[in-house]
Amino acid sequence: MALNILGFPRIGKNRELKKALESYWAKESLESELLACASALKKEHWELQKSLDYVCVNDFSLYDNMLDLAFALGAIPKAYEGLQGLDCYFAMARGNKNLKALEMTKWFNTNYHYVVPELDINYKYILNTNFIKESYKEAIAFGFRPKISLIGFFTFFALSKITNGEIKAVFKKVKETYLNLIKNLVQELKGELVIEFSEPVFVKGWTPLEKLGISQDSVIEFYNAVNALGIKIIVSTFFEHSKELTETLVQTNIYGIGLDFVYGEKNLQSLEILAKSDKVLFAGIIDGRNVWVANLESKLALLQNIAKKIPHERIVLSSSCSLLHLPFSTESETKMDKETLSWLCFAKEKITELELLDSVFRNGISPNNKTKWEQNITINKTRKNATKIHNANVQERLKEQTITTRALPFNDRIKIQRETLNYPTLATTTIGSFPQTPELRALRRNYKSGAISKEIYESGIQDYIRDCVRFQEEIGLDVLVHGEPERNDMVEYFGERLRGFVFSQNAWVQSYGSRCVKPPIIYGDIARLEDITLQWTLYAQSLTKKRIKGMLTGPVTILNWSFVRDDLERSVICKQLALALRDEIDALQNNGILIIQVDEAAFKEGYPLRIENVLEYERWALESFKLATAIAKPQTQIHTHMCYSEFNDIIKTIEDMDADVISIETARSGNKLLKVFKSQGYQNEIGPGVYDIHSPRIPSVEEIKKQILSLLEVLPKEQLWINPDCGLKTRKWEEVKPSLKNMIEATKAVRKTL
Ligand code: GLN
Ligand code: ZN
Repeated sequence: MALNILGFPRIGKNRELKKALESYWAKESLESELLACASALKKEHWELQKSLDYVCVNDFSLYDNMLDLAFALGAIPKAYEGLQGLDCYFAMARGNKNLKALEMTKWFNTNYHYVVPELDINYKYILNTNFIKESYKEAIAFGFRPKISLIGFFTFFALSKITNGEIKAVFKKVKETYLNLIKNLVQELKGELVIEFSEPVFVKGWTPLEKLGISQDSVIEFYNAVNALGIKIIVSTFFEHSKELTETLVQTNIYGIGLDFVYGEKNLQSLEILAKSDKVLFAGIIDGRNVWVANLESKLALLQNIAKKIPHERIVLSSSCSLLHLPFSTESETKMDKETLSWLCFAKEKITELELLDSVFRNGISPNNKTKWEQNITINKTRKNATKIHNANVQERLKEQTITTRALPFNDRIKIQRETLNYPTLATTTIGSFPQTPELRALRRNYKSGAISKEIYESGIQDYIRDCVRFQEEIGLDVLVHGEPERNDMVEYFGERLRGFVFSQNAWVQSYGSRCVKPPIIYGDIARLEDITLQWTLYAQSLTKKRIKGMLTGPVTILNWSFVRDDLERSVICKQLALALRDEIDALQNNGILIIQVDEAAFKEGYPLRIENVLEYERWALESFKLATAIAKPQTQIHTHMCYSEFNDIIKTIEDMDADVISIETARSGNKLLKVFKSQGYQNEIGPGVYDIHSPRIPSVEEIKKQILSLLEVLPKEQLWINPDCGLKTRKWEEVKPSLKNMIEATKAVRKTL
């Protein structure tokens, strides 16, 4: 057997790590209890990896692997230096009373967030590798054969932020420290050390590395230096192909190269180069980040194809990436319908798939594997032919040439809108949600569990909406919202009202630290089964003469935050979502709701990792958004919302979306972001956030006034809306009320000066 995975989810079958962390942070348990939980989880997860060549060590983390590595290298910013052990570690991760946390950002094109290490030439870089060594020794003591998972030096360096010092000098310093870290492990751990270095940065090609002055030669030199320390090295890439890395690594002395054949089909083109080398290929064949039972017949064919070039004994079967991005096990799903469940395969089951595929690949079908193999074939056949997956109406509708451009150009429609909707200069609004109180969460929970009736639930939601509307009227907002009390996140509520979605009970995936998300699963053709938001929006509208803005999550965002079926192009699924939302937009406008916001918070998340694929993504993502919104009549005003701090690279696409108004998150970056819109010559209206929502602090009238004035330095008043940054639902009413009042007062004061 030659089997490998790149890591296992660490949060635990029942999110044990989450609970242990949160109780430790709340000072309700001791460090020793947290560490005991971690040990127990590691052991349980190693147990599941017994059939692999090695169990993964150091894939586990109390918060995040990038942070772990920064910590191990002693890349500790001055501010945290006085703190010891876990106090220091968690302060870097999440801040404490006095200190801010380090920044966090998304790990490639996943929804996992890593902590962005800061590198400074003057840091002490005192190694702290005990936690890696202890895990290793634990694994040995339990009788497992461990392999250390480590983020590769180049990925670590490229994803970190240099806060002080010349790139070259910092590079040299961190490289030396990284090599010392490996030396330290070699010296203190007995036996032959096996390390798998994750180097996903290489799937982006050379550009990000060249920007840092990193050449092919320096990669070769580095890995040869590591190899000279006498360890068995595997260097892996994932999420895409990386011809660049393969071409480089074959020139080194390392043992193995890991390639993703699921999301990087083009890796097949690198087989020739690999064949000529002596490297072992860790072939990522089983999808490590999507939830479907593999079609093992086609996987076998792929493998046989690879084996035509690379001899069997030099192939190790692997997951395409770490299983971190998958839920723990389908065993925890007791309520899902049996048929759909039989199509799903989470982390634990992926290992079984690897075993089965390997056994058939090496020994053919035998009495040992025949039943399971046939089962796999049956599951795939049933899924393919299942009537609930396919919907002829949806497919027909997609084939029609549906109009994707608004009937009038922006300049014409905006005149009609200003007249019809009659909003003032510097119109004030919010991004949609209002505080999600414990009572509100309990109301939804109790309704879901059947503890309260539909009537009680609905009247509870109505009460909330009524309070929201009353408050907004009181303070004098111009365009009101219903407050989104019926939703706990941006996707689930929509998915539950659409055909083609299924929801799990326990399929949690780590997003960051102790935070987990439970993405919906799209299994079939999507269609709108019923009104989604209409009822609540109309209820809110019935309470006021002011305009209520309808609130929808956009097609691209729903797609990017779900597990998506693997038997249809993402672009097609996105268009199905768009058509469903188009119907909702039409229902809203036909019922008099003439301002509708279509949130695309996750538009950027879906961007491909390789530049050459970007245009194609932009094309269909854009088309999907327009497919949904082009149904809007000229007088219906379409808003969209995106929460990014970087628009430079996508500004052209944003412009092409042709939303009448876009609200963006800007409070923390002053008017810098707006300048990007200005230099692009962006014509449509914009609502830049005028105060930061991420802090409990209440912004003063003066301070908001200043922010508005600085916005007016960049764009004319006719183009601007006034709103806070997004995320009011995460704040308390005590914070939201005075802050919004101040925002209105500041706006009024500025209006007087115009
Ligand atoms: N309408 C959503 C809200 O206000 C938008 C959330 C987001 O931007 N992530 O909560
Ligand atoms: Zn947002």
